[in-house]
Amino acid sequence: LLRVSGLNKSFGDHEVLRHIDLQVDAGKVLALIGPSGSGKTTVLRCLNGLERPDAGTITFDGGPEVTFTPRTRRRQKESLRFRSAMVFQGYNLFPHKTVLQNVIEGPVQVQRRPKAEAIADAEALLDRVGLADKRDQYPHQLSGGQQQRVGIVRALALKPALLLFDEPTSALDPELVGDVLTVIKELAEEGWTMVLVTHELAFAREVADQVVFMDGGVVVEEGPASEVLRQPRRERTQRFVHRLL
Ligand code: ATP
Repeated sequence: LLRVSGLNKSFGDHEVLRHIDLQVDAGKVLALIGPSGSGKTTVLRCLNGLERPDAGTITFDGGPEVTFTPRTRRRQKESLRFRSAMVFQGYNLFPHKTVLQNVIEGPVQVQRRPKAEAIADAEALLDRVGLADKRDQYPHQLSGGQQQRVGIVRALALKPALLLFDEPTSALDPELVGDVLTVIKELAEEGWTMVLVTHELAFAREVADQVVFMDGGVVVEEGPASEVLRQPRRERTQRFVHRLL
């Protein structure tokens, strides 16, 4: 579904990503793991068009192949925008909009879909994550776990080919993590294609097909989840995995 090759990104003098290659097959879950600051979030932001890489190519099946150079136009980056949708660590809901308004904002304002259709879709999605009755509430009236489930619904409402999760449970109280992980697991079982940045390695072992371990802006090791999380080959991966599992 997605191929990334030779992705580079610097912020000023700081080279944050160095020649990142990734592949995500349709219907599969890729877990992106690694220490803080290794560049995982930046990879997701590049895939989503929120950040412009300095070099590299991002190709979606049946979609655009976007090759980045320092002169890549904004329009090319924009063309990646709705191929994927991101679920953020801190939910990023609009505080002054209701749950329903948060969910239909992208489909109606940006994708220009008919409002009635967007509302019907949003209601069905809220219902499936158990939040139908929260439709007209504001984010501050919900628990963190509920807000994050709205965050997931908001991403699904964009009907993306790929879902991106950026440490979706790291801001949650431990007792709220389970509900969110359950939703993510159900989506994986339904066949959604996902890239999941997470420190929850036990969860990654459960849902991921492939695992990529990054450190210092490079891919150190990648392979089937069963191998990378159980018997990593590289010493750096071993240290990281054994500390967290
Ligand atoms: P974490 O697990 O802590 O979220 P990460 O692996 O997702 O870390 P990134 O957030 O991608 O790492 O950050 C990689 C590096 O890039 C960090 O050193 C960070 O300080 C730097 N960085 C990220 N965004 C910017 C920015 N907009 N401007 C300058 N530096 C940035």
